[in-house]
Amino acid sequence: MSRNTQAIVDLGALRHNFELARRSAPGSRVMAVIKANAYGHGVLPVAQTLSDAEAFAVTSVEEALPLREAGFAQPIVLLQGMYDDSELSLIGRLGCELVLHSLWQVELLERASLSRPVAVWLKVDSGMHRLGFDPALVRPMYERLRACNTVDRIGFLTHLAAADDRDSDYTEFQLREFERACAGLPGERSIANSAGVLAWPRAHGDWLRPGVMLYGVSPFADGRDERPDLRPVMTLQSRLVAINACRRGDRLGYAGAYTCPENMAVGIVTAGYADGYPRHAGAKASVLLNGRRCPVLGRVSMDMLCVDLRGVEARIHDPVTLWGEGLPIEEVAELSGTIAYELLTKVTGRVRFEYREAEA
Ligand SMILES: *Cc1c(COP(=O)(O)O)cnc(C)c1O
Repeated sequence: MSRNTQAIVDLGALRHNFELARRSAPGSRVMAVIKANAYGHGVLPVAQTLSDAEAFAVTSVEEALPLREAGFAQPIVLLQGMYDDSELSLIGRLGCELVLHSLWQVELLERASLSRPVAVWLKVDSGMHRLGFDPALVRPMYERLRACNTVDRIGFLTHLAAADDRDSDYTEFQLREFERACAGLPGERSIANSAGVLAWPRAHGDWLRPGVMLYGVSPFADGRDERPDLRPVMTLQSRLVAINACRRGDRLGYAGAYTCPENMAVGIVTAGYADGYPRHAGAKASVLLNGRRCPVLGRVSMDMLCVDLRGVEARIHDPVTLWGEGLPIEEVAELSGTIAYELLTKVTGRVRFEYREAEA
């Protein structure tokens, strides 16, 4: 048997979450966000499962290339557009749509020659102050793009900074800024990330851009909200390879960071930070073993971690869930001072991926 640290990806859950996005906004089309290797889940099986989505969104042309090579013909939106003119011919050949956030990109399209025009999305900075045009520049940029023979359709897009907080009035402010910026201009609108899809009907627009919710992660920051009906897609699993009878006073692992308060059974699980399990989860998080929560003890090592087996029936080779089904990744993330997005995208190359097919 191999080391067997594996990520089990439930494609049925992925479909379920996608359908929830659709049902939340029946009048909108879905641009499924599958950037960063589909948030670490594997872009090709995810795209295959979500092939009903009217479009895909990725970060860059490098992320679009494997999709086209695998035969996906849907529109693919590049959320950061192009980085320089060297990419334009590939972008044109792959037929990608470009999000334009800066004047230099518009100038580049004005100078370029392309075999066929590209569809573009003007990104409006409605209040995130990261990428996008100031609302006052949207109309003049629209006029310039209209005049470009390299440009086909023009849509309008913005990104919400605080949609995960249902009580914040910042989203209302951003929606007003966005509406004001593109008032009277023809073209499709896209505003909503996952939190916008689930909590802000006014943000639905023509195109939704759900990302993290597709993978079964709640986008909401506040624990008080009822969890949306999302199913976790990735379960990170490993196994127990040793069970140690430790004595009172024994210190575990590096720096002896945990001291056993009594004679106790300690399990050694073959998963560590080199698999993507967060080192900072040590001493706070738990794993799931035979249906029971077992606290992680002491420091997480590169290839293993220690767990408290008091009160648990456990045998060598028992499977251990690090997050996923039965143990929300949001919880592991919070206990390690990060967000589920980061954990999902940092599962490392030595973890074996196994896909459970969606039922037809
Ligand atoms: C990543 C991203 C999304 C998806 O956000 P989630 O919070 O994962 O739903 C939507 N729009 C843009 C521009 C993004 O970069």
